[in-house]
Amino acid sequence: MAEKPHMNLAVIGHVDHGKSTFVGRLMFETGAVPAHLIEKYKAEAKEKGKESFAFAWVMDTLKEERERGVTIDISHKRFDTDKYYFTVVDCPGHRDFVKNMITGASQADAAVLVVAAPDGVMAQTKEHVFLSRTLGINQLIVAINKMDAAEYSEDRYNEVKKEVSQLLGMVGFKAEDVPFIPTSAFEGDNITKSSANTPWYTGPALLECLNNLTVPSKPDTLPLRIPVQDAYTISGIGTVPVGRVETGIMKKGQKVTFMPSGATGEVKSIEMHHEEWDQAVPGDNIGWNVRGIGKNDVRRGDVCGPAEKPPSVAEEFTGQIVVLQHPSAITVGYTPVFHCHTAQTACTLMAINKKLDPKSGQVKEENPTYIKAGDAAIVTIKPTRPMCIEPVSEIPQLGRFAIRDMGMTIAAGMCMSVTQKK
Ligand code: GDP
Repeated sequence: MAEKPHMNLAVIGHVDHGKSTFVGRLMFETGAVPAHLIEKYKAEAKEKGKESFAFAWVMDTLKEERERGVTIDISHKRFDTDKYYFTVVDCPGHRDFVKNMITGASQADAAVLVVAAPDGVMAQTKEHVFLSRTLGINQLIVAINKMDAAEYSEDRYNEVKKEVSQLLGMVGFKAEDVPFIPTSAFEGDNITKSSANTPWYTGPALLECLNNLTVPSKPDTLPLRIPVQDAYTISGIGTVPVGRVETGIMKKGQKVTFMPSGATGEVKSIEMHHEEWDQAVPGDNIGWNVRGIGKNDVRRGDVCGPAEKPPSVAEEFTGQIVVLQHPSAITVGYTPVFHCHTAQTACTLMAINKKLDPKSGQVKEENPTYIKAGDAAIVTIKPTRPMCIEPVSEIPQLGRFAIRDMGMTIAAGMCMSVTQKK
């Protein structure tokens, strides 16, 4: 049987608004929790005289397993609808989420924004919505959750819906195209089917909205870009870089260039899953061999592209960044490590050109002396050694970066323009 199309789903929203409960509920309702475990929970619940609480038992166990760091089936967080299979990628706030999103380990194709009806829009609701936009998540579903704790009130739902719509509009989502659903992750309202508790809501339940998402098209019409993860020397073959094709198509016989070194040669072979292929497309993890490339010409963080349109190497670039956390203030001269595709490069902040309102993107201040957590800004950056990066408007997959320092993600950003190294 052909595998269903796959989507990565991020579940975002303010702490305590119900994200984990929501994921647990989705897994429970879609049968992602193995039957023998449900039977076990049911039996345990019955013993304690709480027969209807099977779902609560799933949640407790998920939490317990998480705390103990044990990996069991349900913690893979995969669930299926009849159309797709989903992997729930980490939520923002969890360690390394931003970095994983940017370096492509878990690029989300869509996000569910969970907003608790009793609370409405809170600080992290705004932060996550802005971050999703920066990270290039274009499909969003809004669950106005904990409706059970708001008396299933249509008025309250409409109030929160209006608040969220305004927020979405400010960061550039078209709120009228975004589905809103009144849910209770706890009670299971409007998750798989319409709930009798919200007779005033006539729209689709969550699973139908998930089915209505579209799989993003493969970026195979963009120029070829393969960030190098590693390069091996294999006797009898030579140098074999490995990496994932981010954009474009690579064909056997094609002339390619590795940047920043500029080494150029003809593709002799392409290998994936121990088989030889004539071409590789976006998403393929490949090893490939190029005639005339030595082991000093290519290393992790380099990018392979067509000889006639090689990857850009930045002398400087401008970026739009969002500062997520920083113990004090960020000023010109700051030199943290930038994680961009497979590259890790120390880069210096040369100028803070504009401070932006993180909600609206409007300019708040020209040439501010510093920026701090919660700020968004347009900045000029100079890599301390040659580094490949592309404007997001041209090749989005190679234009996003995370800024790391002191073991944490300080900021996330995207490249707006590049001054090419001569
Ligand atoms: P997270 O921090 O966003 O992952 O939130 P959790 O899923 O841990 O939920 C936070 C608290 O809200 C927990 O006590 C949940 O039991 C509760 N909660 C989650 N969803 C609902 C809901 O739909 N209704 C009600 N009443 N409580 C909920």
